[in-house]
Amino acid sequence: MNISKSKALFAKAQNYIPGGVNSPVRAFRAVGGEPLFIKKADGPFIFDEDGNKFIELINSWGPMLLGHNNKMIREAILGAIDDGTSFGAPTAREVEIAELIVSMVPSVEKVRMVNSGTEATMSAIRVARGFTGRDKFIKMEGHYHGHGDSFLIAAGSGAMTMGQPDSPGVTKGTAKDTLIAPYNDLDAVKELVAANKGEIAALILEPVPGNMGLCLPVPGYLEGLREICTQEGIILIFDEVMTGFRLAKGGAQEIFGVIPDMTTLGKIIGGGMPVGAYGGKKEIMEFVSPAGPVYQAGTLSGNPIAMAAGLAMLRHLNDTPSVYEELNQIGTKLTEGIAKINRGLGLTYTMNSIGSMYSLFFTKDLVNDFYSAKTCDTVLFGKYFQAMLKRGVYLAPSQFESLFLSTSLTDEIINEILGAHKEAMVEILGL
Ligand SMILES: *Cc1c(COP(=O)(O)O)cnc(C)c1O
Repeated sequence: MNISKSKALFAKAQNYIPGGVNSPVRAFRAVGGEPLFIKKADGPFIFDEDGNKFIELINSWGPMLLGHNNKMIREAILGAIDDGTSFGAPTAREVEIAELIVSMVPSVEKVRMVNSGTEATMSAIRVARGFTGRDKFIKMEGHYHGHGDSFLIAAGSGAMTMGQPDSPGVTKGTAKDTLIAPYNDLDAVKELVAANKGEIAALILEPVPGNMGLCLPVPGYLEGLREICTQEGIILIFDEVMTGFRLAKGGAQEIFGVIPDMTTLGKIIGGGMPVGAYGGKKEIMEFVSPAGPVYQAGTLSGNPIAMAAGLAMLRHLNDTPSVYEELNQIGTKLTEGIAKINRGLGLTYTMNSIGSMYSLFFTKDLVNDFYSAKTCDTVLFGKYFQAMLKRGVYLAPSQFESLFLSTSLTDEIINEILGAHKEAMVEILGL
């Protein structure tokens, strides 16, 4: 595969951009090799600067639920551009998208638009603190909520200990208000709550975490968290930046029937433009400025082009419930196909999947939390990634990511992916 243009661009990029990329995982450090520079994408395919074509299963880390360069969304963006690109004043589209989100996401009675998932989670925690008058919050080990200071806390030191900063630049003062619990462990949360009685503003988690690879909540876990939070006056926040509008039009909360107090959204909500949102119960959201005292603002929030893209996406999902059946079928075909090939080769690697998300873990252990995810053979994953890339299938460049499927995956393309998977396994394992 000729990647000379990508190589030249990466070499040049490193002179001007830290590590040559604008978001770390793009640099391919976890899988070896150098990143491809992408020129364009269409449907299930992306094309790099050297003209190589790949089937890809990242879909911009989630947003491209309908595949790349979707005609309906492109036309909505082009239509909006004719009227100007930003006004810094209220627009009709913002009212429409807010009304639509409230109708789709069970927990959301009022919603504020922001520009990224990071902004959504940072703001939600601030509002929860303002509303409860408490400082601390609980997050789960291995869950990602964007790069806000208080979320970048190490996970290693056990449920009862205070968080330590995970990144230089996060102060100890910030870290001490972040309490860490292992995922899928209700008792750990109960212990933390008992040890910090009356001091915890919020509990935030990815209800279906996709940022340590895909894991699923054990039965009763989300319900148990709901009960604890209700009893203790803790704001339960579901970070559905990844799962929102993907697992169902109402996200993971719709599927599991557990309704949080607040929800953070991103990715699909912008149809590929930079958008995030946070929302929840009316009485909580009424604390947000200018209705209430908790300040949160954004020069480009609710940007007309971004809203046009998001509206086109959400309207389509709202009006076409069959999208989710279609996505589930695509997910089932691909993941069962991979599992079948693995069985045929005598392999027992763990496959976690739900709807249009999956992770193939290079471990035989069940993976349902940060510790079990850590048992994976990441070197072998790197080889698998490269072996798939060589065969024209572009996966997320890390074992600890979920893959995201889109409606653009036809049976023919799924079969191509399965063929590549079989060859890649035979190659990397020397079978
Ligand atoms: C991607 C992601 C974020 C951060 O969103 P950005 O738009 O990258 O800032 C937050 N939470 C979850 C669960 C995510 O997957």
